[in-house]
Amino acid sequence: MLEVSGLVAEYGPVRALHDIDLTVGRGSITAVLGANGAGKTTLLRSLSGLLRAKAGSVRLNDRDITRHGPEDLVRLGVAHVPEGRGVIVELTVEENLRLGGLWRRDRAWLRTGVARMFELFPPLEQRRHQRAQTLSGGERQMLAIGRALMSRPDLLLLDEPSLGLAPRTAAQIVATLRRLRAETGLTLLLVEQNAGTALSVADRAVVLNVGRKVADDEAARLAADDRVRRAYLEM
Ligand code: ATP
Repeated sequence: MLEVSGLVAEYGPVRALHDIDLTVGRGSITAVLGANGAGKTTLLRSLSGLLRAKAGSVRLNDRDITRHGPEDLVRLGVAHVPEGRGVIVELTVEENLRLGGLWRRDRAWLRTGVARMFELFPPLEQRRHQRAQTLSGGERQMLAIGRALMSRPDLLLLDEPSLGLAPRTAAQIVATLRRLRAETGLTLLLVEQNAGTALSVADRAVVLNVGRKVADDEAARLAADDRVRRAYLEM
């Protein structure tokens, strides 16, 4: 469903991604791994239109989306949960969720979607009228994911969803994402610093190193590859 070919991304004179090729199948979970500065966040930003590619192409469901901006891409089915939790802290939980659903221009979905998010992330329901700034880290991450899901994406891009969370909370969130994938065929691209966690959840994984793709394989095979583990994954 997603085909990236020869993608190049730059920040001014700094080339952050070199010639990246990547294929992501519908309903799969793909982990993007690599050390600090490898280009993981840059890859997600390029896919959600926050950063324009310098070269190469991105195709989603056989449509060229390379030159589309972030608003178009939300409408086309791409949602991005940035690192550091994409919620508006001054708004309540419910307001954040509804905001995520405005793209759909579907009033009925605003209601049913909010109820669905409470079913997926029960801690949010009790806090529906609280401002997001009063939430714990885990609840904020749930809200950020819920807000992204309110746009009913085909492809969800998640940047470090377990960063700073207690292992139990991170595991709950991962379990919910797997359930969603099973129920709706959602496709997930997951950036993780913690390779062990990511490889246990993902079907496939790619490893970036200083802006280049250095490995791309089934997650279980990468987890068993001593060369890749030692060189790039600190496992
Ligand atoms: P981290 O886990 O630290 O977020 P990452 O793998 O996500 O790392 P990126 O944030 O994509 O890496 O960064 C890739 C490269 O691009 C790095 O060399 C970084 O310094 C550079 N870079 C990132 N953002 C900018 C920016 N706004 N301006 C200039 N250079 C940037």
